[in-house]
Amino acid sequence: MDRPTLDERIRKSLIRFGKKNPFCYRLALPLLAAEVFVSRLVRHLKGSTAKLCMLGSGALFFAVFCSFSFPLFTGNQTALGIIDFGELDESVSLAAEEASATEEELSALQSEVEGQGDAGVSESFRAEEILAELLAHNAELEQEASETTDEGTDRDPDAKPEEIDPASFSPDDWRLILINKQHFIPADYEFSLAVIKGNLQCDERVTKDLQRMLEAAVEDGIRLDIISPYRSDDHQEELFEKKIKLYMKGGMSYLEAYQEAAQAVTIPGASEHQVGLALDITCATYRQLNEGFADTKEGKWLAENCYKYGFILRYPKGKEYITTIEFEPWHFRYVGVEAATYMTLNDLTLEEFWEELF
Ligand code: ZN
Repeated sequence: MDRPTLDERIRKSLIRFGKKNPFCYRLALPLLAAEVFVSRLVRHLKGSTAKLCMLGSGALFFAVFCSFSFPLFTGNQTALGIIDFGELDESVSLAAEEASATEEELSALQSEVEGQGDAGVSESFRAEEILAELLAHNAELEQEASETTDEGTDRDPDAKPEEIDPASFSPDDWRLILINKQHFIPADYEFSLAVIKGNLQCDERVTKDLQRMLEAAVEDGIRLDIISPYRSDDHQEELFEKKIKLYMKGGMSYLEAYQEAAQAVTIPGASEHQVGLALDITCATYRQLNEGFADTKEGKWLAENCYKYGFILRYPKGKEYITTIEFEPWHFRYVGVEAATYMTLNDLTLEEFWEELF
């Protein structure tokens, strides 16, 4: 038997490398093609040293040229869409981690992320329980406000739609800030968090309307659970990475996993939770954050009534192509009563609202 030639050995090790994980597979394929091409050429030119030297220097030049133009090495974002150098760097470590993951780790991660949608936290607060805290907090705010000038935050809960003048909306209104994958949170965005209870925090300017909404829900016999509205930047990043890992463990490449994760978890820096203007709400009888919540009594009540208290269902069904986020019947965004009423009655997402008015 002949010993395997150098060619065969290279090819075998490339194939072995490619089987390691999806990232290696993508890298190994072009290398394999190049190897076949080069070995054919070498065989063709065997015996002619001058030609071989020319070919060698040509190949060297080509390799150097490629290393400058291929986005993997330069961080050129156009060729790979939204992926940048840092993220690809991470993919290598993620890919390595994936290779060593055990079944238990996989299922632990699965249960950690699954069913918790964009929240990723199991801590939730019964509306009845936090109402007392909200009342106390708002009473304090009122006291402070009465000492200064009243901003007129006490609006009619059923704002008359015909009285809303679209010209009165301003793109500089903090309540209308557009945050999505194209509009990241501005670096100089400032806000104060109100700690309602434990981890339950949100922009302090939202608490008054939140209180009114929860009171109305309790009155209507609707039992809501609020899931930590505010999420720190670190926490958002952690969630996003977990989702990517989960998809990669399911066999996706890093790029596929990134794009999939971007639909399910908001990209860090592009989440309304990071500025305390979004709330995830479920109920005691349906704790999972998925489409099913829309069919519960509580989900329906929220969808119908939230605008009266300044909230909108931020990622509605049928508008996924605009929001680029899957239907989330549990995610509510504060925009103020007038804007929420206007958007709800005109069936507008926040993106469409901006497009139409500003
Ligand atoms: Zn949310």
